[in-house]
Amino acid sequence: MAGIYIHIPFCKTRCTYCDFYTLNNESQIDTFVEALCKEAQLRKNEIAGPVKTIYFGGGTPSRLHQNHFDHLFDTLFTQYIVDPEAEITVEANPDDLSDEYITMLAQLPVNRLSIGIQSFNDDELKFLSRRHSAQQAIEAVKKCQQHGFRNISIDLMYGLPGQTMEIWEQNLDQALSLDIQHISAYHLIYEEKTRMHSLLKAGKIQPVNETTSTGMFSKLIDRLTAGGFIHYEISAFGKEGYFSRHNTAYWQNEQYLGLGPAAHSFDGNNRSWNVASLNSYIKSMESGMPEREIEHLNQQEKYNEYILTGLRTMWGVNLTELKDRFGEELFLFCMENAQKYLDKGLLTTKEQVMTLTREGIFISDGIMSDLMWV
Ligand code: SF4
Repeated sequence: MAGIYIHIPFCKTRCTYCDFYTLNNESQIDTFVEALCKEAQLRKNEIAGPVKTIYFGGGTPSRLHQNHFDHLFDTLFTQYIVDPEAEITVEANPDDLSDEYITMLAQLPVNRLSIGIQSFNDDELKFLSRRHSAQQAIEAVKKCQQHGFRNISIDLMYGLPGQTMEIWEQNLDQALSLDIQHISAYHLIYEEKTRMHSLLKAGKIQPVNETTSTGMFSKLIDRLTAGGFIHYEISAFGKEGYFSRHNTAYWQNEQYLGLGPAAHSFDGNNRSWNVASLNSYIKSMESGMPEREIEHLNQQEKYNEYILTGLRTMWGVNLTELKDRFGEELFLFCMENAQKYLDKGLLTTKEQVMTLTREGIFISDGIMSDLMWV
């Protein structure tokens, strides 16, 4: 299975918590799309087999216009064998989802939308510097449904300074009332070089305490699972048949090709990432020499990836495969380090598959790092 990720590095404005590679100036968007198509042509031999997923992420892919999508899809469908059943996702911001824009999206081969809502509370949206209101977000989802989209995911954030459990529950109730198929929910992270991080350092905001964080995560799991969602990855919840196939492929160590500035690729043995500069990216595509760094993964690094990605998901780590792929030494290392978590009921094994338990999910970072080879 192969997937293609396409990074669209434009946003109207920058959200306070965001450290993704993205620019507010869209003047080079046409040149950028040309460069993307060139990269798609230049790298077409890097993935084998039919493309099963295409994911437009960013940045804000809903800053692209119809002519950009047309050009990109023409290129992708002529340069690659795209599975007729491929999952094709576009991330979109609610403020871009006018009737006209959704009509345009509905005419493209796009069959999944991932809408960056983050919150249904106007004060929180303002605090995050989002460009939409709660009402706009609700209307955007409904309009997409009216235009025939039946596979819609939304993003939510929790653990925001000052966020109460009551507000978080209201956000969850609102999300559940929308008849969507997928929800990704992330705890706020204070990434360096973001405005949120500066506010924290200046003492202008206080992070939520650990009890609140844990309580919100717990509420998230309880509410969404009671609402018919399956908790299939730490941050991801999907209705049956609606898990993100693109992200699931990442977690199952499948190969993928990342196009666009700062996009990452993985071919099974090597990770690579494109230059995180729009100008350098465009120049490198014009010269026909993609500028990127490549890291070859040794056996221990592949083992670490296998543990990290496996434990994140409900499919867990297959212990038979672990031994076959990585040998006796790494297998024993894993089991010796896992034992104390198995004893405490934070990890469990069933039919040779090791997974986090409900209790283990709350300290997953610590467990995963203990199982890593350093
Ligand atoms: S819209 Fe998304 S990518 Fe753009 S600044 Fe906000 S969080 Fe970052």
